[in-house]
Amino acid sequence: MSGDQYLNFNSDLQYIKGIGPRRAAALAAEEINSMYDLLYNFPRRYLDRSTVCRIVDLNTTYQDLEVTVIGKVLSGELVRRGNRAFYQLLITDGSGTVKCTWFNGIRYIQKVFETGDLVAISGKPEFRYGIQFVHPDYDKLDQEEYSGQNTGRIIPLYSSSAEMKNKGLDTRGLRRIMAKIFQEYTLQVPEILPAELLEQYKILPVDEALRQIHFPDDNNQLLRARTRFKFEELFYLQLIMAVKAKGIKSIHKKFRYDGAGEKLRKIYEKLPFDLTSAQKKVIKEIWNDMKKPVVMNRLLQGDVGSGKTVVALLVSSIAISSGFQAALMAPTEILARQHFKTLQELGRPAGIKVSLLIGGQRKKERDEILQEIESGESHLIVGTHALIQDNVVMDRLALVIIDEQHRFGVEQRGKIIKKGMNPDVLVMTATPIPRTMSMTVFGDMDVSIIDEYPQGRGKVTTRIVQKSDIESIYDYTRKQIKAGGQAYIVYPLIEKSKKMDLQAAVEGFQYLSQKVFPEFSLALVHGGMKSQEKDEVMNRFKAGAVQILVSTTVIEVGVDNPNATMMIIENAERFGLTQIHQLRGRIGRGGKDGICVLVERNSSQKSGFRMEILTNTTNGFEISEEDLKLRGPGELYGTKQSGFPKMKIADVIEDKKIMLLARSEARKLIDEDTHLRRKHNQPVREHLLKYYSEYLEFLEIL
Ligand code: ADP
Ligand code: MG
Repeated sequence: MSGDQYLNFNSDLQYIKGIGPRRAAALAAEEINSMYDLLYNFPRRYLDRSTVCRIVDLNTTYQDLEVTVIGKVLSGELVRRGNRAFYQLLITDGSGTVKCTWFNGIRYIQKVFETGDLVAISGKPEFRYGIQFVHPDYDKLDQEEYSGQNTGRIIPLYSSSAEMKNKGLDTRGLRRIMAKIFQEYTLQVPEILPAELLEQYKILPVDEALRQIHFPDDNNQLLRARTRFKFEELFYLQLIMAVKAKGIKSIHKKFRYDGAGEKLRKIYEKLPFDLTSAQKKVIKEIWNDMKKPVVMNRLLQGDVGSGKTVVALLVSSIAISSGFQAALMAPTEILARQHFKTLQELGRPAGIKVSLLIGGQRKKERDEILQEIESGESHLIVGTHALIQDNVVMDRLALVIIDEQHRFGVEQRGKIIKKGMNPDVLVMTATPIPRTMSMTVFGDMDVSIIDEYPQGRGKVTTRIVQKSDIESIYDYTRKQIKAGGQAYIVYPLIEKSKKMDLQAAVEGFQYLSQKVFPEFSLALVHGGMKSQEKDEVMNRFKAGAVQILVSTTVIEVGVDNPNATMMIIENAERFGLTQIHQLRGRIGRGGKDGICVLVERNSSQKSGFRMEILTNTTNGFEISEEDLKLRGPGELYGTKQSGFPKMKIADVIEDKKIMLLARSEARKLIDEDTHLRRKHNQPVREHLLKYYSEYLEFLEIL
């Protein structure tokens, strides 16, 4: 079947038969730049003739089941009912007719179909007004595919962007090109999995797997091909982790902490509270790491309010006792300032000099601070990413602590590491990371967990209410505030709909302050404000001058007002579970009990069910595990931030078994051949460097 023209992963797409420069540009816009990208652009799903349903056989037993029908377009029309419009397609397969209905994207969908088009429609049938599919998945078919010549063949269905469709690269167009590639060319692609593994686990070789994933012979071959690519993807992910872990563990420190920590004792003796045993445990773990000759790379997890700041101070004091500097990086200026104050106070008994370095400081002030840092007069430097600017000289930096790491890019972490002397790194996070994730995304780090709250924390009760109950919630809030309490009212703000969300928060604030709580003092704080303005509002709230703080999610991390006992979260269904869990950690901090009210504005069975868990548990790990199941790792840990390559085919949760295997094999490989220097590992090394180098930044071990 194959022709005598050879293709490899680097082949230029525009020279492939049927592509050309215009189509290559449309593909490039979707990050399909090379033959590798095109071959690894796997079908979105498959049309398996043996599972297609005849329309005449569709009955209510198919309700809630995903079914596929194949048919011809009879008509398509725009229907108006009252002030509503929708687009409706009528399709027949000779045995009966179905309707396909679109309420959204009408303008686009109107142009997609023409009478006589042959289509495969997939979705859950509804049995109102005849048989109907609402917003189904659709693919156009060729005559040959439609009439089922080559019966039994499984047909790949591809995704494509509007631009690709414009250039003839809809699912049919792509399918034709992929067919050409396999029929008229010979693939010469390297096997990028170790030969031993192919043999041991009976994994399909790469060329065969590529053919089977695009044009499967049967379901069994398809499964084998998919399994191979899942394994391959997870194997490379785990290789990255293994290389990182090995790389960091092989960095020897050029310094030793020899001052045994008298400063630690001095601070400890003067603390206004005793440490929890969990805090003591993690300090020991961190100290143990610091004593080792290789640099520390540790993750400190602890819920909001578990007391991570004092841990940061105490371990910093170990470095400082030995004559070194430590740096604490916070994600926002508000937090940096708050840390600065806390650390200054708690560190005073040991004579620790803390400096604050943030953007927006006046030049004179900034120059003075830079001077303090450079001269070594500052012991502990607190700041935002301003800390990692080039003109900050920290010669004696031995320990870097990063607060709320998931908000920091991986590059930033790399930059600060480069500035120092390969310092010890401690990353602190309040996002409980489910075990599944700590094995993948954070697989290169050691983990310490604070699994206990300080005593005297109030209990926070969480309730879900519908919008119809909101008045009684406002009444309750009024009573709380009259009794001396304070409240947060939080609005969602999501990057995608930022403008509208901000407007909703501003309008909400106006409504609340004028109509609902005119007798109280309210203030608004949101991420679009200057940091000075934000600080001012937060300070007035802390001082009690503001009784109700209306905010977008900027309060999520860190900010502390022990007098706040009430929190109302608006449109709670739009938040992630972990996000709500962190938000509610802001209340009940001063020993008084708190109440968190989740207001559902747009309720569906799904969101109610989802949020239920928040009323049942305060265990952050359980909550994040649930979040992970519901929303997937991409949402929880942004790709870039986490240094987590986007998964094309594997699912770190569903494919856990494959992941565990990939993990142990990847570790074994890196243990045996750390630098991947052996000849038979060359294809793996080359592939890793070529396609995953951005995840291996600041590691020179390969
Ligand atoms: P987080 O882990 O969210 O950063 P913080 O470090 O801000 O938590 O601590 C939350 C509050 O608990 C602070 O007011 C802090 O002073 C207090 N705190 C920390 N450790 C203890 C402790 N062992 N006992 C009592 N209060 C503590
Ligand atoms: Mg904190």
